[in-house]
Amino acid sequence: MAYQIVAACTNCWACQPLCPSEAIYPAAPHFLIDAKRCTECDGAYSEPQCAAICPIEAAIVDSQGVAVNPPGSLTGIPPERMAAARAEIGAR
Ligand code: SF4
Ligand code: SF4
Repeated sequence: MAYQIVAACTNCWACQPLCPSEAIYPAAPHFLIDAKRCTECDGAYSEPQCAAICPIEAAIVDSQGVAVNPPGSLTGIPPERMAAARAEIGAR
């Protein structure tokens, strides 16, 4: 059982020093989590420290592949509204 960092990661380094298992490391094209080391912060913290600090929605997924901070959870902007705004900007 381990969390994963996926393509949305912007390599900001925020999560790397917080991991109690030293499971997070820089790689290309984005940071990665060593699945053998990740404990999901079980026994150390009440919530996964990487996902708690990550400023990018959907950059970290749980062992089921579900985004821990899904689209809209940090910005407060509903995903459909964001998509509409992007489409409008793209059409300019
Ligand atoms: S869930 Fe916890 S142990 Fe796993 S990578 Fe994130 S901070 Fe490290
Ligand atoms: S905090 Fe999020 S965006 Fe920053 S390096 Fe970690 S996974 Fe990537």
